[in-house]
Amino acid sequence: MPESSRRQIFVTRELPGSALERLGQAHDVSVWPHRSPPTAAELLENVAGCDGLLTLLSDGIDEEVMQAAGAGLKVISNYAVGYNNIDLEAASRRGIRVGNTPDVLTDATADLAVTLLLGAARRVREASQEVSSGDWQTWEPAGLLGRELSGRTLGVIGMGRIGTAMAKRMVGGWNMKLLYTARSDRPKVDESLGGRRVELAELLRQSDFVSIHVALCDETRHLIDEAALAEMKSTAVLVNTARGEIIDQDALVRSLRDGGIFAAGLDVTTPEPLPPSHPLVKSPNALILPHIGSATDTARHEMAEIAVDNVLAGLNGQDLRCEVNLA
Ligand code: NAP
Repeated sequence: MPESSRRQIFVTRELPGSALERLGQAHDVSVWPHRSPPTAAELLENVAGCDGLLTLLSDGIDEEVMQAAGAGLKVISNYAVGYNNIDLEAASRRGIRVGNTPDVLTDATADLAVTLLLGAARRVREASQEVSSGDWQTWEPAGLLGRELSGRTLGVIGMGRIGTAMAKRMVGGWNMKLLYTARSDRPKVDESLGGRRVELAELLRQSDFVSIHVALCDETRHLIDEAALAEMKSTAVLVNTARGEIIDQDALVRSLRDGGIFAAGLDVTTPEPLPPSHPLVKSPNALILPHIGSATDTARHEMAEIAVDNVLAGLNGQDLRCEVNLA
């Protein structure tokens, strides 16, 4: 690539695989070298003069960041399918293209939702703790009783890619009945699953397992609040692999403590990381993972390839491989 056509790219973290080498062959790439994300001030400093940004969900990309990059900024490529960390309207106003990395992480994230559902239902956290603490005394007929899965009802909140993949696993593998919510303009839902579309309140009242898969936006922030939790069965298990802010976490802590629901399995929290002293971490019936939904070697490598393709296309003024559009 001739020197004159090389552009300046800031990448907010090292990525697995060789995709960044491909980017570096075509452009001047600067990669944030630390394990922790850049602070807001460090981000502003590092984006200055950039034509492209490759960002993570932990980087807040607002208008101030776009302004700091300058008029040359053409593309923001998010290494995630969710893009709630990016001010899409500001990007659109400035003619900046925004990309994400859907599909390649669907199976990995659905698998993790299953892991959390099984783990929370069968009290894996408490059981494992019993072993490591030396409290395991004997085989007890009524010890650590969990919830049976087969034939029970799964409620999927948001039948998008991951919600559908989760439903397939639970309907096919555990013969579950399926309820789901969807927006009225949802183009299609896989009818082979035999699911029934219902309002959220009915889904919460009737489901034995509730799995959250909606995107985070104004309409879904605290969708699962105190009132929603109160609708759920006291035997129910709540799983969230979408975004932490979809649940009112204080209300969840109370519900788990007071027997409002049986257990929760969470890959996402507010904030991230969740401090070890947080009451949710102290709740024995909360199984919490550090946002590893897409963390398989295959998914993370493929996400890197798409994220780099998105930057390259955006700099060339072409449609991105996976482009996020304003609704
Ligand atoms: P998707 O196919 O775009 O599905 C998004 C879902 O969100 C759809 O069901 C959609 O509803 C719903 N939705 C979007 N805007 C909404 C609104 N304003 N009100 C109500 N519902 C709305 O996305 P996906 O690939 O399945 O990913 C889903 C989410 O999972 C991502 O946004 C991300 O936050 C999260 N995620 C987490 C991890 C992790 O590591 N834990 C990994 C990947 C993804 P309709 O079905 O009615 O269109």
